[in-house]
Amino acid sequence: MFFFKQIYNTIRAWFEEAPHFTGTIIATERIGSRIQKVTIALPEPISKPFPIGCYIQAQTSGCVPRAYSVAKANTTSFTLLVSFAGMGVGARYFAEAPVGEKVVCYGPFDDFPYRYGTGRSKVFFATSTGVAPFRRMTEEALKENVESVLLLGTPKEEDIAFKKDFEILAQNPLFRFIPVLSAGSAEWKGARGFVTNHTADIEDFLKKSDVYICGVPIMTMGVLDLLKKIGVPEKQIFVQKFG
Ligand SMILES: Cc1cc2nc3c(=O)[nH]c(=O)nc-3n(C[C@H](O)[C@H](O)[C@H](O)COP(=O)(O)OP(=O)(O)OC[C@H]3O[C@@H](n4cnc5c(N)ncnc54)[C@H](O)[C@@H]3O)c2cc1C
Repeated sequence: MFFFKQIYNTIRAWFEEAPHFTGTIIATERIGSRIQKVTIALPEPISKPFPIGCYIQAQTSGCVPRAYSVAKANTTSFTLLVSFAGMGVGARYFAEAPVGEKVVCYGPFDDFPYRYGTGRSKVFFATSTGVAPFRRMTEEALKENVESVLLLGTPKEEDIAFKKDFEILAQNPLFRFIPVLSAGSAEWKGARGFVTNHTADIEDFLKKSDVYICGVPIMTMGVLDLLKKIGVPEKQIFVQKFG
């Protein structure tokens, strides 16, 4: 018992030495059955919002760190999408964390940035909470006046995060939003199956686009295989190591 306490204290000390801040949960929202949207206030305002495509490490139950991509951010807060798909330690922590809860966070870590000024169109591939970094990247593509497509794979219609936001963005002809449901209801009129089943009509577009991928490893591997097969240059491919 003493031995475990010592290990716990050592790990805790490492975390306390690393740069971190304590945020406060100011809003939570359940999206379908699989996602908790969590907005965390910063301890004090900052000059610029956290970078697009970044992630933070949150200290969940028992000091266990879990990485979450930042979906939205301003100078006083940021928003995460936490997946309940497996109900692991991070999911359980955020499922139960109430408004007002303090959360120790590390970061932001900026390793999946939006590449400005390439002049290329964009294709974003995501599954479930992997859509988080694309909430802001899709807006940036429109600001750059380049065409973009978001293919989002998820089981059911109610599990689509930021559905309304993407539908509004899709009123601009430069942006296409393609949700792909693996377990959609009989009423669902959109795409079904997996995101890789819906690329046949955009293969030429993919070849000339920057391609961003974020989500479960099986989707990432499938998309990378496809991109290799159709000859998308590697310098145009950006992957978030999510899983
Ligand atoms: C850069 C980066 C960004 C990320 N961004 C996000 C994000 O925006 N949103 C997000 O949700 N995730 C994100 N992730 C993944 C996230 O960090 C977690 O790994 C993921 O959410 C699962 O964490 P968890 O603690 O809920 O599950 P874990 O505890 O890690 O469990 C993972 C899986 O193992 C299973 N499992 C755990 N313990 C047991 C057990 N004893 N027996 C059987 N099965 C078990 C769980 O059911 C679950 O399916 C990101 C990861 C990285 C690296």
